[in-house]
Order: sequence, then structure tokens, then C-alpha cells
Amino acid sequence: MVALHAFRKGERIFEIDGVLTPTPSRYSVQIDTEVHVEVPEHAEVDAEQMLVRYPWRCLNHACDPNARIVGRELRALRPIRAAEEITFDYETTEWDMASPFPCGCTRCGGRTIRGFRHLSREERERRRPWLAPHLLARIDAPVG
Ligand SMILES: [Zn+2]
Repeated sequence: MVALHAFRKGERIFEIDGVLTPTPSRYSVQIDTEVHVEVPEHAEVDAEQMLVRYPWRCLNHACDPNARIVGRELRALRPIRAAEEITFDYETTEWDMASPFPCGCTRCGGRTIRGFRHLSREERERRRPWLAPHLLARIDAPVG
């Protein structure tokens, strides 16, 4: 999704609204160990409502993102211009992705995004300043 207006560094962009579930899906956002925010299963929402109520579903991953998730808030990591695409690093919230995919960003050369669980020690350390608390607690867990 793109920014509708500019955001200052550290500014709240929106809240991660939804229902909590222990099971990750392709679109859910992990906020704690075995706690994922998901769009309600039977929500009859059209595309426009989806963007208003659950904009986090439309956030793409980037290895060099301009936003991060803090608790249940999306916040700007740096100043974001109006119409700039808003991205966050999925591997700062997701332990084990339900649907791994090849990254489309230029920084990493298209590696497969599989979740924090699968990162090397070095890759984990690089994300330390932006990690969700539940992953910070597992930063030294065995890789794989
Ligand atoms: Zn990448």
C-alpha cells in the first residue's frame, strides 16, 4: 500500500486491527508467540473496506523497509513521503511464515522470505533494533 500523506519518523501509521488466532496464515501478522492478527474469517468486507479497516493486509515486505511494527501499531522507521510505498520486514514479526515467497526487493537479490526462525545468527542480529519482543526473546534459538 502507498502512504496517503507524509509521515514523520516514529509516527504511528495505523493500528493492526483484527482477530487473534494461534495459527498463522498467508496474510496474518504475528504479535506474540502463537498469537497472530487475522482478518475475521466471516467478515464480509469489500476491497475498499478492507483497505480502511485492515490496511496491514496490503503491506508488502522489504528487507530495507520504511516502517516497523511495535506491539499492534505500524510506525514510520524514517520519514515517509506521500505516495511512497509503505513496507515492513516480515522477518521482524514472523517466526515461521505460513507461505514463504521470493523477496521482490533489490537489497537481498530475491532470497526466500521464510521467517525469523530460518535466519542465520548474523541476519538475526542485524534486525535486533526493530524486532518484535517475542522474536527478541528467541534471537539465540537454534537456526532451522
Ligand atoms: Zn529482500
